[in-house]
Amino acid sequence: MMETNEKIYDAAIVGCGPAGLSAAVNLRVRNMDLILLGADFCSPKLYKAENVDNYLGFYGISGQELRDHFLEHVRKMGIEIKNSKVDSIYSLGDYFTLISRNTEYRAYSVILATGVSNEKFLPGEEKLLGSGVSYCATCDGPLYRGKDVAVLAYTEEAIEEAEYLSELAGNVFFIPQYGFNGKFAADNIKIINERVQIINGEYRVKSLTLEGRELDIDGIFILREVTPPDRLLFGLEIDNKHIKVNEQMETNIPGVFAAGDCTGLPYQLARAVGQGQVAGLNAASFVRKKKKESQQPPD
Ligand SMILES: Cc1cc2nc3c(=O)[nH]c(=O)nc-3n(C[C@H](O)[C@H](O)[C@H](O)COP(=O)(O)OP(=O)(O)OC[C@H]3O[C@@H](n4cnc5c(N)ncnc54)[C@H](O)[C@@H]3O)c2cc1C
Repeated sequence: MMETNEKIYDAAIVGCGPAGLSAAVNLRVRNMDLILLGADFCSPKLYKAENVDNYLGFYGISGQELRDHFLEHVRKMGIEIKNSKVDSIYSLGDYFTLISRNTEYRAYSVILATGVSNEKFLPGEEKLLGSGVSYCATCDGPLYRGKDVAVLAYTEEAIEEAEYLSELAGNVFFIPQYGFNGKFAADNIKIINERVQIINGEYRVKSLTLEGRELDIDGIFILREVTPPDRLLFGLEIDNKHIKVNEQMETNIPGVFAAGDCTGLPYQLARAVGQGQVAGLNAASFVRKKKKESQQPPD
């Protein structure tokens, strides 16, 4: 069941890497009421950097150590990181609703700091998006009542999504793309340890081409660590696979800002932290202005 948080935050930050953490710190400095949503580990990229020689003031530090410093900084400022992957964002006129598994959050502004994914689209994925291809089980699961669906799982979070879908769908074909060796209690979840090569269908998803065979399905949920930003928020302008922003880190949607690797090259820490700061400060100004305007009596 969907849990709705009635509160409207000043800002919701999606992603807890250097860009998102920096945005959070700067929003807090401006006394904003914020929520910081991060998918499981913050951040795998920073953690993997063996030796960082170009982050000012920390010559030769490892990514792991720098990550510890960043997390300690936000903790000391009383900023909590909610372990929640955001699957979808909707603009509801006055505020935004962010959907994460079974919880809904609301905020007057949004900062996207999701990093980038190296994974490529599957053949058929883009064409059939919204016609059987989905990235959000919570949003689209109810459309598949009694039908057969596949869950293409790139992360462990997909396990819970498959369990949720098994309560609605006919069969759920769980296709892990990472080292999964678990089991499911639900009889209608079938594990398939094969690669998906093509998503087939002219107007709607009909089947998957696996390694040398076809699997008939009505829909496929593709659950990657990073959802492409324009799939998170429809209407978001993209420029060569990155979120298009101006120097104020504003996107084409008023109230939505973006920072870090998701806005383009070079993929670097100092850039992510700097952009996070600009996005945080500008989101704070946006919210203040909006609140002021709503207090003014109409002409
Ligand atoms: C091996 C390696 C070495 C590197 N070395 C250096 C270096 O020496 N110097 C340097 O400057 N840079 C280096 N980098 C690059 C640097 O790590 C990145 O530029 C930086 O981490 C980008 O920060 P970010 O916040 O934009 O994105 P990320 O660090 O990728 O963080 C994004 C976060 O958002 C989360 N997220 C994504 N989608 C969602 C969602 N829908 N809901 C909630 N959370 C979500 C992700 O799980 C992740 O935690 C290196 C990178 C790698 C991989």
